[in-house]
This record gives sequence, structure tokens and C-alpha cells, in this order.
Amino acid sequence: MKSKTILLHVCCAPCMIVPLERLRKQSFQVNGFFYNPNIEPKEELEKRKTNVLAYSKRNDCAMFFDQNENSEQFFAAFAGKLEGPERCHTCWYFRLKKTAEHAKKNNADYFTTTLLVSPYQDGEKIREIGEKAAAETGVMFHYENFSTGYQQAVQISRLENMYRQKYCGCKLSLAQRQAAKKTRIKPS
Ligand code: SF4
Repeated sequence: MKSKTILLHVCCAPCMIVPLERLRKQSFQVNGFFYNPNIEPKEELEKRKTNVLAYSKRNDCAMFFDQNENSEQFFAAFAGKLEGPERCHTCWYFRLKKTAEHAKKNNADYFTTTLLVSPYQDGEKIREIGEKAAAETGVMFHYENFSTGYQQAVQISRLENMYRQKYCGCKLSLAQRQAAKKTRIKPS
């Protein structure tokens, strides 16, 4: 019987741990796809890419990297959506649509995303956006609540000494993180 193929959109190495393990247990043949033009600055993007490449090699997962990372189209899509949840929805759609297109081009049966690992993201909205990209491309979106494995991913990534980023990816999320840090260390 032909195994089902799935393209896994990967945001970072720690978030790849649980989906890769679970999808393989379900007999999916998994390939990875790194497309995250949201990540800034460039040094941070390179750090995450290097770690994803190392993890995928250690775990024998073929990985594709989109070369047009910081595309102008991506940032243009944010015009007027710099605040609130709409910004993240636009960001997710951009990445999932590109993943679905890559899956279609490479004849994958399904696509999914490591964005579903974080309990800090809106999993239901990611599902809705994934299904929209699926309807637009004709490739099925595999939804699974990977966030139940979040703690496992944290433990393994610590044990394996993997790079764990401190912010989601865009400049605004970096600024928010820095502001929160300052608030925490403010003397009383
Ligand atoms: S916070 Fe994260 S998901 Fe939202 S726009 Fe920034 S990088 Fe994208």
C-alpha cells in the first residue's frame, strides 16, 4: 500500500519534535518545509534555519527551504494590519498558503504545520486558515492538536540543548518581548 505523504511546515526545530514523531506513527511519509519570512532580524532567521537543518538531518527528514524568505509581498500583506490578531492571521495564511502550494507542486497528499504545537497560538484559527489554503490549492490540510505535546517538546529540546527562541518571529513580537522583560525587572 502506498504511504500517505505530508508536507510539514516547520517554524523552528523544537516545534518539529512532536509533529514529526506523531505523523510518522500514523504512517505518514513526512517531508519538512521551512518558509518563515516573518522572522527578523536575519541573524535570528539563520539561527532557526541552522537548527532546523541539524534536527532534520539527525532525524532523517528531507527538508526544503524556500529561498525567497523576506519577500516584499509578505510585508506588503501587513499594510494596515500591524496591530491585533489580524496581523498573526495574515502571517499564518501567508506561510500556510505557500506550504500548500509547495505540497501541490510536489504531489504531497496533505500538508500541516508546527504552528499547532504552541499553546500560545490560536489553534482553531490556524485550522481555519489551513483549511482555506487547502480549498484554494486542492491539497488536504491535516489538523491535529499537537499542543498536547508542548511540554514534551520543551523537555526534549532542553535535553538535546537545542536553540529555543524567545519571541515569535516578527519585529513587533521582539519589541513586545523586550518591553515585557523591562516591566518585569523594573524596581519597585
Ligand atoms: S507575532 Fe508571530 S504569528 Fe504574529 S505576526 Fe508576528 S511572527 Fe507572525
